[in-house]
Amino acid sequence: MTLLTEPTILSRGVYLQLVVNIKLLDDAIIRSNEPEEVLTCSYSSLGNRFIIPWRKVKGKLRRLVMEKQRGFDIMPACHLKDDLCMECPSCFLFGGTGETSSKKASYNILSRVLGESFISKTKVGEVQPYTANAVDEVDLTTGQALMTIVTVPKETEFLGVVTLRDPTAAMVSIVADNLQRLTRIGASTREWGRVKTEILGYKISDREDLTAYDLVNNDTLPDGLDKISESNLPDVKDSYTSLDLEVKRLLNEHGLIK
Ligand SMILES: [Zn+2]
Repeated sequence: MTLLTEPTILSRGVYLQLVVNIKLLDDAIIRSNEPEEVLTCSYSSLGNRFIIPWRKVKGKLRRLVMEKQRGFDIMPACHLKDDLCMECPSCFLFGGTGETSSKKASYNILSRVLGESFISKTKVGEVQPYTANAVDEVDLTTGQALMTIVTVPKETEFLGVVTLRDPTAAMVSIVADNLQRLTRIGASTREWGRVKTEILGYKISDREDLTAYDLVNNDTLPDGLDKISESNLPDVKDSYTSLDLEVKRLLNEHGLIK
C-alpha cells in the first residue's frame, strides 16, 4: 500500500498513521471546575492517566498549518472559525462546513486528519479536590468554589496516533512538519506550557489499527513502523503550493468552485 499520487474527494481507504510522542517540558498545573476540562481518565487496565484530548491537539495543529500557509501567502485571509475559505490546503486537511463559512460554500469538507486523545506513559500521582477563591466576573465579588487540581510533572510523556486519510506525499509533508512545530499545548483553563513533539514512526495500512491505548499498554512500539525522513518527503513550501493547486482543480472538476 502506498501514498496517493493526487488528492481525491471520495476515500480510497488508505490510512497513514503517525505515532507521536508529546513530552511536557514544564510542570503543568490544571485547575478546573468544569467537568469536561478534567484532563485525566481512568482505564481499567492502565489505571489513572493524564490525557490530552484530541480536539486540543487538532486545534493547535490546524492553527500551525494555517499560520505557515499564510506565511507562503496562500489564501492568507482563511481563518477560524467562521471565515474558512473551503478551498485551501488547511481546509482540505482539517475540514469545514460550507454553510457556516462566510463564503457560504455549498459543500462540506470532511477532515482528513483524524486522531484520538493522547495518553500519558506514566500514571497520575494525585488528584485533589481544592477549594479556591473564585471571583465573580460581573460584580468582582469573591466566593468559594470547589475545583480539582492536578499537577502534571514536567517530562511526562504522552503517546498518541495521528492518522491521515488518503494522503499524498505533500499532505504528509505538511502535517509532519507542523506536528514537529507543536511546541505548546493550551487548555482553556490553563496553559499547559511548553512541549516537545516527536514523530516516532509511521505505518500505511487499509485500516486504523494503531491506538494510543495499545501503545501505552504494551509499552513498546509496534513492529513494522517506518521512520519519517524529511529527505523522502517533498519540500514543505512546494507541498503547500502543489496541494493548493490540486485542491482547487479537484473542487473545480466537481463543479464546486469556478
Ligand atoms: Zn481555507
